[in-house]
Amino acid sequence: MGRVDGRVALISGAARGMGAEHARVLVDEGASVVIGDVLDDEGAALAAELGGRARYVHLDVREYAQWETAVATSLAAFGRLDILINNAGIVRSAPIDVHPVADWDLVISVNLSGAFYGIRASAEALKASGHGSIINVSSDAGLQGYEQITGYNASKFGLRGLTKNASLDLGRYNVRVNTIHPGLIRTPMIGGLDFPQNHVALHRLGEMSELSSLVLFLASDDSSFSTGAEFVADGGESAGLAHY
Ligand code: NAD
Repeated sequence: MGRVDGRVALISGAARGMGAEHARVLVDEGASVVIGDVLDDEGAALAAELGGRARYVHLDVREYAQWETAVATSLAAFGRLDILINNAGIVRSAPIDVHPVADWDLVISVNLSGAFYGIRASAEALKASGHGSIINVSSDAGLQGYEQITGYNASKFGLRGLTKNASLDLGRYNVRVNTIHPGLIRTPMIGGLDFPQNHVALHRLGEMSELSSLVLFLASDDSSFSTGAEFVADGGESAGLAHY
């Protein structure tokens, strides 16, 4: 018996990286998944790998109509939608005094507006589920400042506000809404970046599976009394600086 048997999840940005890992774990635990991304070849390949309980749909999270199509795909293919994971995210780096305005607009539209669009488009289906769970993927950059990632920092803090609001508006329908806050995780987003993590309590990067286990907890009824909350998996990065 899986921990999310019979549940259906829609995951944005799931063609690769952590989103793909979450899809694999949820299917392993009995769920069906709709994989949304702009990387059509990778997304279709992942759906084929996962088999009959997976579908791929082209989903640019900046396009509200594509969210509506993704939700409709979930209902048509699997008859319901229980879990929304707003995972799609991008980062652009530059000091704030020279940060390109277009980069700010792009990062906010993907990371923050995209998550609102996802919640807005899936709210009715999640309410109908009777035990909906929305997981908004923030970051340690949603808890503290980092140099040169102005839009990313602001968007990841913004997801916390969106989460508090949505948890209040949707709680009466037993739809729970939480954020997760990964530290530095070995995914394509960070490329080959593998510098020492001696400033972090656990002194290492995180692995994707270490976030998927948190996502599984929040997606399942194991977290049935948690909403509007922030769940950190960062090796202690936000606890303070390790010096030795
Ligand atoms: P990744 O780059 O491997 O995956 C991100 C996915 O989002 C990609 O498949 C990409 O195609 C997709 N995407 C980008 N723009 C999109 C759009 N407009 N519409 C739909 N999909 C789009 O990155 P990852 O490291 O797996 O990151 C997943 C999430 O975790 C992101 O929100 C990221 O900000 C967050 N995060 C990552 C780290 C880390 O260290 N890797 C740390 C904290 C938070």
